[in-house]
Amino acid sequence: RTVYLNGAWLPEAEAKISVFDRGFLFADAIYEVTGVIDGKLIDYDAHAARLKRSLQALGIPMPVDDGTLLDLHRQIAQRNGITEGLIYLQVSRGAQDRDFLFPDPLEPTFVMFTQAKRILDNPKWNKGISLKTVAEGRWSRRQIKTVQLLYSSFEKMEAHREGYDDVLFVENGHVTEASSANFHIISREGRLITRDLSNALLHGITRGSILDLARRAGLETEERSFTVAEAKAAAEAFITSATSFLIPVVSLDGTNIGDGTVGPVGRRLLDLYIKDRRENGLP
Ligand code: PMP
Repeated sequence: RTVYLNGAWLPEAEAKISVFDRGFLFADAIYEVTGVIDGKLIDYDAHAARLKRSLQALGIPMPVDDGTLLDLHRQIAQRNGITEGLIYLQVSRGAQDRDFLFPDPLEPTFVMFTQAKRILDNPKWNKGISLKTVAEGRWSRRQIKTVQLLYSSFEKMEAHREGYDDVLFVENGHVTEASSANFHIISREGRLITRDLSNALLHGITRGSILDLARRAGLETEERSFTVAEAKAAAEAFITSATSFLIPVVSLDGTNIGDGTVGPVGRRLLDLYIKDRRENGLP
């Protein structure tokens, strides 16, 4: 692969970062993942906007201007022949001698790479997934897309060992989100219920897009927190994220959601999203 590092295009084996980088020593870095289908960028503007919000929240400067950022996305997909997959980017505060304090403005470290991945025929779309609830153990500023992913990774690993596909984080009895996706339910009355935006969860780009499409399709929506019991009693549930779009959740802690198969509302929203993004992705 050809990767991008601080202004240079390099074979991946030649891209090197300082051992004193604060991204490495303190997880002092943020990231973004943008999906690519048919060679087009999905929800690019929203991902670029969230990148800026994350950087601003940590006081890390934007490493490049808006035009360059878009150009780099297009170039890295082209250079790596990615027509379907994802573009990952990460910006860390930069390198300095190890210290909890960072009084001096540093030169950010900016990395981008691609992953080829089949996005458009995901077997999980038809099969659904199982989730296990676990205590929310991440820091409390989850709206910032930082690379502090160890808790989520460990809990997902453990859930996998126990036969679940993923975890669902729960705080004070209320659902926050899955390890790397937002969680939503369809009530017995057919309303889409998803947690309201706050510091408790990542403001998922796909969440926003699906909510928008659902409203345009005439579905009633509610943005509010809800309990695990309410999720278990729902007609349907699903998670959303940039590279999986919408995956039905068919069981929670071993309890079937609905009849334990993929429900019609989630499927309809997925189809709407695929159609819309195929037509409106950024070339
Ligand atoms: N929540 C978390 C914790 C995530 O890591 C992700 C994916 N990065 C999401 C939600 C989904 O966000 P998006 O739709 O922007 O991919």
